[in-house]
Amino acid sequence: MVVSTSSAGTSGSMADTQKAIGPIVLLGPPGAGKGTQAKRIAEHYGVPQVSTGDILRANVASGTELGKKAKAIMESGNLVPDELLFGMVAERVKQPDAARGYILDGFPRTLAQAEWLDKFLQNQQDAPLPPVVADIQVSYNELLGRLTGRRTCPTCGRIYNVHLSPPKVDELCDVDGSKLVTRKDDEESVIAERLKAYERQTAPLTGYYQSSGRLHVLDGSRPIDEVTAQAFKVLEQARKK
Ligand SMILES: [Zn+2]
Repeated sequence: MVVSTSSAGTSGSMADTQKAIGPIVLLGPPGAGKGTQAKRIAEHYGVPQVSTGDILRANVASGTELGKKAKAIMESGNLVPDELLFGMVAERVKQPDAARGYILDGFPRTLAQAEWLDKFLQNQQDAPLPPVVADIQVSYNELLGRLTGRRTCPTCGRIYNVHLSPPKVDELCDVDGSKLVTRKDDEESVIAERLKAYERQTAPLTGYYQSSGRLHVLDGSRPIDEVTAQAFKVLEQARKK
């Protein structure tokens, strides 16, 4: 009798890096752990993490036409317009490494961008899977607590978090003993404004996905591993059919 060591034909984890997973949209406010989860999902399914920030920087660095335009706009102090972002996203997700799927990070951020994404996907030639949309939700107060915990060493620049990665001695740098400071960006009023801005900008977006029954909620108040497990479950269920 020949015992096969291949897992082909079973539903083992090997299939995770072979089957088409399609586009994944991950939403979540600053401090929700979106970057960490995006990275884990990307690794688990063997698909690229497509971050508009990274694409933008790569285009600017390699001096593409889109990059030149974006650079000029950013240098004049303006936000990169949707038209440019759309061109970059469309170009990126056509690359061979994204053929089985990809995870969008930082895009879409607005209702207009979500609508563009739907149209773009519908118009692609080989009838791709619709995006799976997962929203990492964390209460406002918990986010505020996480984000205001940041402390910086004025001497060596090392960053601590009084909740997540505190120094060995309260308020003092482990390396050089300097008294840690709260940078202006990490002050409560600044963070509160950032969270409110996120809420204002993305509420119509989550509403759009929710009203079409496509919004999957992840409980971001749970430990990191549990949030990852929730994300995998959502994806498995969405792509079962
Ligand atoms: Zn230090």
